[in-house]
Amino acid sequence: MKKEQAGLYIHIPFCLSKCGYCSFYSIKSVHLIPEYIAALKKEIKHYRNVFSSFDTIYIGGGTPSLLSILQIDDILTAVNKYYKIDRQAEITIEVNPGDVSLEYFQALRKLGINRLNIGVQSFDDKILHLLGRRHSAEEAIAAIEAARAAGFDNLGIDLIYGVHGLNINSWEKTLQKAVSFRPEHISCYQLSLSENTPLYKKYSSEGWKLPDENTELKLYLTTSEELENAGYIHYEVSNFARKDKLKSRHNQKYWQHVPYMGLGPAAHSFLNNKRWWNKAAVKTYLKEIAAGEMPVEGSESLSAEQLQLEALFLRLRTKAGIDLKCYQTKYGIDLCEDKKTIIDALIKNELVELKNGFLRPTRAGMAIADSLALI
Ligand code: SF4
Repeated sequence: MKKEQAGLYIHIPFCLSKCGYCSFYSIKSVHLIPEYIAALKKEIKHYRNVFSSFDTIYIGGGTPSLLSILQIDDILTAVNKYYKIDRQAEITIEVNPGDVSLEYFQALRKLGINRLNIGVQSFDDKILHLLGRRHSAEEAIAAIEAARAAGFDNLGIDLIYGVHGLNINSWEKTLQKAVSFRPEHISCYQLSLSENTPLYKKYSSEGWKLPDENTELKLYLTTSEELENAGYIHYEVSNFARKDKLKSRHNQKYWQHVPYMGLGPAAHSFLNNKRWWNKAAVKTYLKEIAAGEMPVEGSESLSAEQLQLEALFLRLRTKAGIDLKCYQTKYGIDLCEDKKTIIDALIKNELVELKNGFLRPTRAGMAIADSLALI
């Protein structure tokens, strides 16, 4: 089996305003960006003897498109200085529709960035307003068109469903609108609300509810059917790609236990069955790096059993499923023998299928993927 190269994730933990549903780590103190980039470059350098090469780079956030072209160039120059970057590397940046322009996209392409992920979320201004996004539907469309005009041929868009006021019909229209731009990749996330978010409080005060289980399932199945009918491969619970080669190469590393290095506050890394993660605080990050320390908050060495359970969990969220032979070689477990009764029951209920040596979730199975992993 060919050894996969590692992936690099770079976190840009700044947002001009916080979306109402967001529980990711990011802060509004954008004046810290120059200092942050200087610290990030030190962190990039620090791991040069731990990782050596990457074939995917993902600049995520937060809002990476708050960075100027010079700042992004500065980061990528540091990466290229200390690591070998594959000539065919997938290099992605997440962008917010309100921040970008044709010139910005053209400059990103010149830096070697070849994949964009645009945080569209909705094509309906009312929904965008409710979510607390700081861009309009018109700006989202303009961003997609500008990306195409700049020559990006690997474009992903993110959408959110299950929002108050967005019924199945209007969600179908959103999907159709998204498909009309023929993005290479679409991610559809079901709205979930953590208690400490403003939108959670709004839902509580207005007496709104998130969709019940049945509606949730209907929305999920509609999404899968609509996008598959439009020619997309539903390759992971929330992810769709127009072709195999257009699946997110970077995200697949997370699902397949391929090593990755995550830089910036709250970022996670994985290598040789060990996972470690940084503290989720920009100021601490800056202070510790200035003092010559790495802002690592914790680490864990995964036992063979933990790795095996994680593999089960992660792969049953993907259409590719579990390669049973590889699974047995790696973890010493004949899954079909070990879990025969339950797997037979899942097959009977059309939640998984056994085909060509793979155990795969069906569409209905993927809808309850997290429970499938409890087999
Ligand atoms: S842009 Fe993304 S990271 Fe920033 S607040 Fe909104 S959802 Fe959170």
